[in-house]
Amino acid sequence: MSFKEKGLLVVLSGPSGVGKGTVCKALRNRGTKLQYSISVTTRKPREGEIDGVHYFFRTREQFQQMIKNEKLLEWAEYVGNFYGTPIDYVRQTLDGGQDVILEIEVQGALQVKRRFPEALFIFLAPPDLKELKKRIIGRGTETADLIESRMTVARSEMELMENYNYVVENDQVDHACDRIESIVLAEHCRVDRL
Ligand code: 5GP
Repeated sequence: MSFKEKGLLVVLSGPSGVGKGTVCKALRNRGTKLQYSISVTTRKPREGEIDGVHYFFRTREQFQQMIKNEKLLEWAEYVGNFYGTPIDYVRQTLDGGQDVILEIEVQGALQVKRRFPEALFIFLAPPDLKELKKRIIGRGTETADLIESRMTVARSEMELMENYNYVVENDQVDHACDRIESIVLAEHCRVDRL
């Protein structure tokens, strides 16, 4: 059933380390009908990350040029690196009637809210901050300094939860995916969105 022609823009956000990437991957593996935007970043690839698959890895100069040419829907500087969402892919996919999910940090999500207030904003929350630290350390990809910077950002990000439509606790990936799928489905059925 579809009364609407345009797709839904779903913004999945929350503190780094909360498991946004894992949840997105799990949604993908389930075959959830969402299109996944690939972000641009100036951070160096981690082991196993591929340009054009996990991110578009670009220089700071290239990133600045994209901002100047209005190629980004939103962007943010996060722990010393830039991250942004290419706007063309999002526009084309939504216009084609498909839903797009953005997995982004909180500052970027607030920018999307200013430009696309009709988007669906889901805050992925950790069961608690201690658990979050354990997950960042467990990932094994960050130095001690970086872990502390990420935790400082995470604490202030938790306070921005009230800007979102929904909060989903990531206690278990499968449960978080169930909730996100239900929210997206409900959003499509909302009378005031038709
Ligand atoms: P990581 O370096 O761990 O891949 O990502 C760091 C943070 O940047 C994560 O919270 C991730 O969700 C966020 N991020 C990834 N892509 C984007 C983007 O396009 N825009 C914004 N604002 N944040 C992003």
